[in-house]
Amino acid sequence: MIKFKDKRNDIIKEAYDIEFKDNKVFIKFTKNGKAYGYSSSNIEILNKQADSELFIYTFKHNCYKCKRDTNILTYITFKYGSNLVYPWDKNKLNNEKTGDGILNHTVYEEMEFYPIDIIGLNKKYDNIFLNKYPKRLKVGFSKTENELYLMNLCEHCVESREGSL
Ligand SMILES: [Zn+2]
Repeated sequence: MIKFKDKRNDIIKEAYDIEFKDNKVFIKFTKNGKAYGYSSSNIEILNKQADSELFIYTFKHNCYKCKRDTNILTYITFKYGSNLVYPWDKNKLNNEKTGDGILNHTVYEEMEFYPIDIIGLNKKYDNIFLNKYPKRLKVGFSKTENELYLMNLCEHCVESREGSL
C-alpha cells in the first residue's frame, strides 16, 4: 500500500494505487475501487514501494577509456512508484505520460517518451543506490544541466568516468 498525506488536513491514509496525470492525482483505495481525483499540490506521497525494494538492473557498456565491457547499474521505476518490471505495464506507462511526452511522440513518431526514472533522474533513489554501491557510483557535475547527478564508474579503471545514460 502507498501511504500519502492529504496536506489540507494533515491526515495520513493508505492507497492501493496512485496515478499522477498532469496536475491531478487519482487515488484508488482498493484494487477495483473508484479513482478519486485530487489536486496534486494537496497530496504528498510518504512511502513508495520502490524505496524499500528498489530493483537493480545492469547492462554492459563499453568503457571509452579502457575499451573493456563494464556493468552499468541502474534502477528503472515508474515516475511515481514502483519498479518497472517485464512485461512493461504499457497501460500504466501511457496513462502516466505527460503532455510533453505525448507532444514529443507526435514529433518523433518512432520514439516513445515514457515517464520513467533511471539512474541520475531521481535524487531519492540515487541516494539509495549511492549508499548501496559507493565504489561503483560517483556524484558528478553536469555543466550543461548545471546540477549534480549520479554516474556509473568503470569496474576496471575506477577513475574513468562512464557518464550518465
Ligand atoms: Zn574502463
